[in-house]
Amino acid sequence: MRQEGTERPFTSPLLDEHRKGTFACAGCALPLFTSNAKFDSGTGWPSFWQPLPNAVAYKRDTSLFMERTEEHCRRCGGHLGHVFDDGPRPTGKRHCINGLSLTFKPA
Ligand SMILES: [Zn+2]
Repeated sequence: MRQEGTERPFTSPLLDEHRKGTFACAGCALPLFTSNAKFDSGTGWPSFWQPLPNAVAYKRDTSLFMERTEEHCRRCGGHLGHVFDDGPRPTGKRHCINGLSLTFKPA
């Protein structure tokens, strides 16, 4: 998961994870998202409209001739995915996360 690649869409078992619980970093087990903030973005990657406080860090990514915001685990620096501005309310953010970067713990 240290490689900043992205898994193929619709391959993550977490896509269909609809139980209540916590999504934690696959690298260091830091809790990153809760099931409350998960939504179906239709993109094929697990998507959230809000991370937990102090869970993630951001970096500008200008690769692929696009400007995107990369998201990393704040504790171990593991690459998680990208953030976009077309998410649902209340935040308007779409955190598009690699399923491989997360582990799910049911509540
Ligand atoms: Zn981590």
